[in-house]
Amino acid sequence: MAQKADLLLTNALVLTMDEGFNQYEPGAVAVKGDSILAAGLEADLRKKFEARETLDCAGKVLMPGLVNAHTHVPMTLLRGLADDLRLDVWLMGYVMPVEREFVTPESVKLGTSIGCAEFIRSGITSFADMYYFESFVAEATATAGLRAVCGQTVLRFPAPDAQSYEDSLAATRDFIEKWLNHPLIVPAVSPHAPYTCTEEILRATAALAAEFDVPLHTHLAETAIEVDNARAEFGMPVIPYVKKQNLFEAKVLAAHCVHVDAGEINTLKHHGAGIAHNPSSNLKLASGAAPVAEMLKVGLNVGIGTDGAASNNDLDMFEEVRLAAFLSKFRTNDPTSLPAKTALLMATRLGAQALHIGQITGSLEAGKRADLILVDIDNVHNSPHFRRDPNGAYAQIVYAAKSTDVTDVMVNGKWLMQNRQLTTIKEEELLAEAADYAKEVDRFLIIREKSVISKLIAIGGATQEESFEVQVKVKVEDPAPVLSALKKRGVEVIYKRHYHEYDYYFVFDDPSNGQLRYREDEFLNDKGKTDHVRYRLTLVGEPHEREFPSDVMLSRSRYLAPANQSLRFYREYFQPNREIHIEKDRQRWLVRYKDTEFYVNLDRMDKPDLGYFLEVKSRTWSRRDAEHKSQLVVELAQFLGVSTAETEAREYVRIVEESK
Ligand SMILES: [Zn+2]
Repeated sequence: MAQKADLLLTNALVLTMDEGFNQYEPGAVAVKGDSILAAGLEADLRKKFEARETLDCAGKVLMPGLVNAHTHVPMTLLRGLADDLRLDVWLMGYVMPVEREFVTPESVKLGTSIGCAEFIRSGITSFADMYYFESFVAEATATAGLRAVCGQTVLRFPAPDAQSYEDSLAATRDFIEKWLNHPLIVPAVSPHAPYTCTEEILRATAALAAEFDVPLHTHLAETAIEVDNARAEFGMPVIPYVKKQNLFEAKVLAAHCVHVDAGEINTLKHHGAGIAHNPSSNLKLASGAAPVAEMLKVGLNVGIGTDGAASNNDLDMFEEVRLAAFLSKFRTNDPTSLPAKTALLMATRLGAQALHIGQITGSLEAGKRADLILVDIDNVHNSPHFRRDPNGAYAQIVYAAKSTDVTDVMVNGKWLMQNRQLTTIKEEELLAEAADYAKEVDRFLIIREKSVISKLIAIGGATQEESFEVQVKVKVEDPAPVLSALKKRGVEVIYKRHYHEYDYYFVFDDPSNGQLRYREDEFLNDKGKTDHVRYRLTLVGEPHEREFPSDVMLSRSRYLAPANQSLRFYREYFQPNREIHIEKDRQRWLVRYKDTEFYVNLDRMDKPDLGYFLEVKSRTWSRRDAEHKSQLVVELAQFLGVSTAETEAREYVRIVEESK
């Protein structure tokens, strides 16, 4: 007696992507409820099943839906926000500051719905996400009817949905408990990346994921800089470092892994980690080409991802699959290194395994969920068809077909698109909302980009610390008398430092922006060797805003920030109109003179080569106090045996200004 089925899809070229790579033509798939009953030759299935409904799929490929192994789906709202920048400038300078202002539960739902529409249109039935307010991503995804591994982001910076990492960890626990055992959503934990997390965060997130046996989705070894920094900071590359933090206690899905060596690939394999390869993102950000062929060789589950729409900028898996094949061929200089069949496998069954949902989706097999798509191959760019070599069918999908050839999409036994009509999402309304959102973000960035202060605040860490400095600066021919004067009674040395100072001044055409100084101090020990290095960023107001008698200069510094990023980062982010580079050897004393503390700096100017200068200065927080201190700095300078004649100080200003 025939078995009952809800739906029989017939007359298709069926690519099962199962272990045996079985193909059937004319083939059929029987569906009941949320699952696949069977895939096989149409003639066999017609005998075996009695279906309530039959769909003729003439001229189409019937295959498993594509698995997008790595994305940030709500970022469709930031598509085209900032492009052609280096990863750190793009992420720390633009994406994260905008996210801190604009990411809300509502925006996350809107961006997710738009992303899901794009996913469905390009034949994606499952995806692995990582974002903020992930419960709202899950909600919008479930409403759209797609399957997803949803990773709630945890990182060491304040995030749009959490003030601290402890908050986001607690929220992640609630999120997991809420979505566990949902038919479409698999909750996951997402420590953003080793460089945005602490050891403590990596350990805590791994423990949480292991506790609930849910995936841990993270970014690993994306850029060479990340690996260099890991080596410098932790003494080892990224994979051993995260292993040390017990990351692999969890079921890991690692995005990128562009810069990993053979040993690290083995470590990933040994711990059953899934890899998400993101060719467009890696190419666009010039991150490099991941050693995908090597990963596949050791049996790693490597999926393919689009990454977020802000770094790709589309969510087209057909494009990614093709690029994955091309990029591997290019990298290895070997056209056989990643055949179409393997590329398509990565985008289906292998991808599902990488997401740790391989038992329920990724191939057309009895018992798996009915996650499938129909691709129209009866058109100009898909003609003609060769059937001599079964690989021809995979090559057709990977090299010739386009995402717009996808006509029908089913997830969990439910149609999400039929004849190119979405059944769960109304696109027009969403696009109008997205347009309004973009206008607001644009307005925010236009204002921010006008001022250096707001750009500085946007990248975090800047603290407003308005202070004034009163100082005299005098050229000295011979430093010896100053050194001996410092030993005299009347002045007490509290401490002495010796360092090499490198100042990079960013100068802007609009003088009201002030100057931004990136300063690198190499502290020298008794033997003249570098002991440690300090990097600071100071936004200096317009220089010597007023002068007191005897040429005491008053200057104002407004913002001080530890410089966590590289000089190159700041240069690319702030884009100064001009740059000035000054280098000096500085001996600095903190002294007490007439019950007041002063800094005495003896500088040997190396670049430009100007000889020795003595600086006596005191910091003050009020202008009134500055008046009094200005007299004392002159006295102290005289005590140290230098004359503060007006001409000499002016001379310094003139020389330095000119050398700029
Ligand atoms: Zn990513």
